Amino acid sequence: MKDYPMKGCVLNRCVLNLIVLLILVCIASLASAQKDGPVLKQMTYIRAGTLIDGVSNSARRNVVITIRGNVISAVSDAASANILADATVIDLSQATVLPGLIDAHTHIFLQGEDPAEGGYDVQLLKYPLAFRAARATVSVRRAVEEGFTTLRDLETEGAGYGDVGIKMAIERGYIPGPRLFVSTRAISTTGGYPLEGYAPEIEVPKGAQLIDGPVEARKAAREQLDHGADWIKVYMTHRSWIGKNGELVSQPTLTVEELRAIVDETHGWGKKVACHAYGGEGMQRALDGGCDSIEHGLVLTDAQVAQMVRQGTWLCPTLNIYYTGWASADTPEGQRDRKRASEHEASFRRALKGGVKIAYGTDVGGFSWDDPIAADFSRMVDLGMTPMQAIQSATSKAAELLEMQGRIGVIAPGAYADVVAVAGDPLANVKVLENVGFVMKDGKIFKNDLSAKR
Ligand SMILES: [Zn+2]
Repeated sequence: MKDYPMKGCVLNRCVLNLIVLLILVCIASLASAQKDGPVLKQMTYIRAGTLIDGVSNSARRNVVITIRGNVISAVSDAASANILADATVIDLSQATVLPGLIDAHTHIFLQGEDPAEGGYDVQLLKYPLAFRAARATVSVRRAVEEGFTTLRDLETEGAGYGDVGIKMAIERGYIPGPRLFVSTRAISTTGGYPLEGYAPEIEVPKGAQLIDGPVEARKAAREQLDHGADWIKVYMTHRSWIGKNGELVSQPTLTVEELRAIVDETHGWGKKVACHAYGGEGMQRALDGGCDSIEHGLVLTDAQVAQMVRQGTWLCPTLNIYYTGWASADTPEGQRDRKRASEHEASFRRALKGGVKIAYGTDVGGFSWDDPIAADFSRMVDLGMTPMQAIQSATSKAAELLEMQGRIGVIAPGAYADVVAVAGDPLANVKVLENVGFVMKDGKIFKNDLSAKR
């Protein structure tokens, strides 16, 4: 660029006046910034009978949570709390208060389709995108009403970049919903994702972006990241069936080279890769290719558990969905469905024992949003977690997966005011989390069936 030397400053009266005016404007705006600044932010106090803060391994009794605007500023014993006279006080002294819950595996663009009503295919073949988006707005509202104030949504199933739009609508306050981490279209290979089973002459839409070869793989990741993906979702296995020796077999999809191109690209953008993987060759490629989280993980061997611990790979198990919707026991599909559940149970126990990092995920959307999103808690406890471990998987652990530790999934100074409460003690009966009675997200109350406000 060419340099223009200054020929000397000529300050006429007009310029001087302008400078004085600018200084006055600056002073005025500084003064008003002070007036509207943190001092006058809405103060809210929550009296918590019991607090499970998401990180500590034991609960606290009789605590006051101080919230300034949308951020928690203090957590103190009720006896020593200094409550300002004109502030809002929410009395949850008969309830158990927790951080807003996190579901790290959802599908807001799916509705748990009944096969009798066309199942998955009808979504892509018959429903206009606006219809699917309208239903997604109901899904996200349901999530926050049930106490899930953050979701990692793992692909739109043919609805393109619709999740980026829903996230935008929530963030700008047009619709209620949780904090969303979105993954847009997802990636699989030719032969690796529905729609399937149509005449080869007919071109049908696919529920994921299909790639073949590392060049296409990297390009797909770039496109999705460019259009707003917070995470990249990859399908590393597809069909599954019972093998010759009675074992669960899963068809592998991407090669290690294809996956490495995606992981390398995504990590370069400072983002992470979630891999759907059931087991076998596809699982091994997922781990060797550097996936950050394994989704489902139905058949993890001891060696793979050790590899996950070594590499710091997360497991997002989505247990409960594998116990529902089984085909009848005398069909190959029905036998496979039962085998999936039994393998999953053993795999989850192995991962838990081996010290794999586990984040709460449900696959809701794969089942109806009218069913409780918190149903996985009791399944996790049945399979060996303590209630506190299960709760932390959906609070501080999931926050760590999302690299949001300290900001979400915890009740502590500096965290966003995402707060929920239940009647009863989830440490005695984790099922009470299926009935969340109070929800605050980002300092705003979405639901309060538990207390009167002052
Ligand atoms: Zn899923």
